[in-house]
This record gives sequence, C-alpha cells and structure tokens, in this order.
Amino acid sequence: MQPTTKLPKVGTTIFTVMSQLAVEHQAVNLGQGFPDFSVPVFLVEALGRAVREGKNQYAPMTGIPALRQAIAAKTARCYGRVVNADSEITVTGGGSEAIFDALLALVRSGDEVIVLDPCYDCYEPAIDLAGARAVHVPLDPVDFSVDWEKVRVAISPRTRMLMINTPHNPSGAMFTADDVATLTGLLRGTDIILLSDEVYEHIVFDGRRHESMLRYPELAERTVVVSSFGKTYHCTGWKMGYCIAPSALSAEIRKVHQYNNFCNFAPAQWAFAEMIEQHPEHYEGLGEFYESKRDRFRAQLEGTHFQPLPVPGGYFQLVNYSAISDLPDAEFCRWLTTEKGVAAIPLSPFYESPPAGQRLARLCFAKNESTLDAAIERLARI
Ligand code: PMP
Repeated sequence: MQPTTKLPKVGTTIFTVMSQLAVEHQAVNLGQGFPDFSVPVFLVEALGRAVREGKNQYAPMTGIPALRQAIAAKTARCYGRVVNADSEITVTGGGSEAIFDALLALVRSGDEVIVLDPCYDCYEPAIDLAGARAVHVPLDPVDFSVDWEKVRVAISPRTRMLMINTPHNPSGAMFTADDVATLTGLLRGTDIILLSDEVYEHIVFDGRRHESMLRYPELAERTVVVSSFGKTYHCTGWKMGYCIAPSALSAEIRKVHQYNNFCNFAPAQWAFAEMIEQHPEHYEGLGEFYESKRDRFRAQLEGTHFQPLPVPGGYFQLVNYSAISDLPDAEFCRWLTTEKGVAAIPLSPFYESPPAGQRLARLCFAKNESTLDAAIERLARI
C-alpha cells in the first residue's frame, strides 16, 4: 500500500545524510551537532546509581518532582523568574519533543506560524502536522539578526505563534535586549504565542548575556521556553529536555505529551536533578568551556581558505567558502565530505528559499581538540 504522505517535503534530515556520508568516507564529522567528549562523570555516576537503586519504572507524566524543583530553582537563579514546578515545567524527550508537543497542542488547523529562516529543521514538519502554515521570514543574510519590520508585516489575523531561537542554530546569532524590547511591543495586544527555542542558553561568549524570554515577565506570560539537557550536559543521545510555559499553556502541552511520550527515561531524571543542584558550576562554566574551543578553532581556520563568521553563541562555526568554490552549498558539503574528508552541513536546508549565491557551511566545534586538529589538517590542504 502506498500511503498518501502527510509530509511531502520531508526526507531524511541533512544531519543524518551527512553523518552517514561521514562514516562511509571516514570523514571527520563536524556536521551533526554533537559533542565527541564525555558526559560529566558525576552525571554518569548519578545515572548508574539511579538505575541500580531501581528508579526504572514510569516516572510521573510531567517529570519527577525533584527534577522539576531543581529546574525551577535554576530558572530563578539564572533568569530571576519564579516558576511553579508543578504547573509550569514539563520534562520532555529533548527539546524536539517539547517543540512538537507545543505545536500540536497550541496551533490549530488553518493557523499561521512565523518562523525565522534559517531555522532548525524540525519546526516546519511540526507546523505541517498541526495543519497550520509556516510563514517564513528571512533573517539578515550577513549577521542573522531579525528584521522586525519584516516580522511585523508577516503578522496576520491568523498568526497563532512566532518561533524564535537564541542562541541561533546554525549562525550562533543572539537576541539583544533591544530585540526583546521590539518583540515585546510587536506582540502586545495580540494573542500570539511565542515559542522560544533556547537549547543553547548556556553557550554564550564574550561576556554576552543570554536574553531568555523568562527574564521578561510580559513576554514570559505568552511564551513556551524550550531547553535541552543534551546541549547543556554533553548527552545529545539521551534526548532529554523540558519546556517552561505559564500553567494554561503547559496544561495544553501536557495533553499531547501525555500520549505522545507520557514520561521520559526515569533514571536520567534523577541524575539530572542531582547534577543541576549539586553542580551549578557546570552550566555556569559552559560558555567559557566552549569559548576556548571556539577561539582555538577560529585561530586554526586562519590557516585555511575558509572565512569564519562571528560566533556570539552556540557551538557552530559558519564558514564562507567562496574563496575555494562556487558550488552551491549542498554540493560543496558533499564534496567536502567525500573528497576532502571533513563533513559539514549546508545552510540551504534551513531555509524555505535560501539567499541566492550564499556560500556558507556549518562546522560544529563541540569536539575534542584532536578531532578539530584532524579536521583543520584536512581543511588547510584545500
Ligand atoms: N532546537 C535547536 C535549535 C537545536 O539545534 C536542537 C538540536 N540540534 C533542538 C532544538 C533539539 O534538541 P534535542 O536534541 O534536545 O531534542
């Protein structure tokens, strides 16, 4: 039987495609965004302990209370917002599940959802499955800042949600306090829900402040903030995360989460509760940890023909390859992986319509020095 596809635009994600190519061609994989270094020892031990202590059965649907309380305390500490651990925090299967649940629960058929291109690839399929329409607004092609006037023009009576992402994947661009002020004015008096994807919240550089929507009471009242333990604790494969939203929004999100997932890997919930409470220095030091990787990698790139763009946050380095090739980005990244042995991610899959002539590739620097050195050795030969 040939089913009618509900997602005609969806194929295998570019991340999977490039990771497979990397394996086939023994390329250094700077494509898919995952650290190749260890999870903090404390977290590994806490996980093992939770398993041995028998914390292996269904957890409460919204997450174990100890974890939700730890998240609430961390949120107050980091962003000055007191959230209700019982009614406003939901533990999910990574940031991705939180995004899916929020869209399926809050967006109705015929609604419009504004996304800012380039945007993370799971947004549009979730919008499509909700029966809504993605309205794509391009970010500035040079510095990936938001053109708020374009967003204002894109807002219609059907706009149900605006999705933002700071620090931004793939560019690393970050919202400023001015962005937040403009956004606040733009949404005032509307019923638009904000979905703020903040999975790279702790990976910020050069003394910048992460402008979480949780810092801003007026916006927080209409916002679903999405966080990922995978990014913060170097364990993307555990697929654990959470969202914070006012109780009325959380209640709806939980209706989907309850049947989509019900609960997440229980032992890891106990482990994260301990880790968050006992080792705040981990997330507090994450910016510094990645900043030195960024600086080292950028210095190494100077010995190549790739031109690095600024990286305010996140763990991706965009590089302009126009001094090397005029190939479109997807072809270039395939060539780079298969012929030159370094896997990278093209930017065009992050767009509805990529800017003409854009020659950028995304490299992940969440890697051990030896991995980055091996990649640079190959890149320098091009
Ligand atoms: N949003 C963005 C911007 C991401 O980069 C990612 C992961 N690559 C996610 C959401 C999903 O996070 P998780 O792996 O926790 O599902």
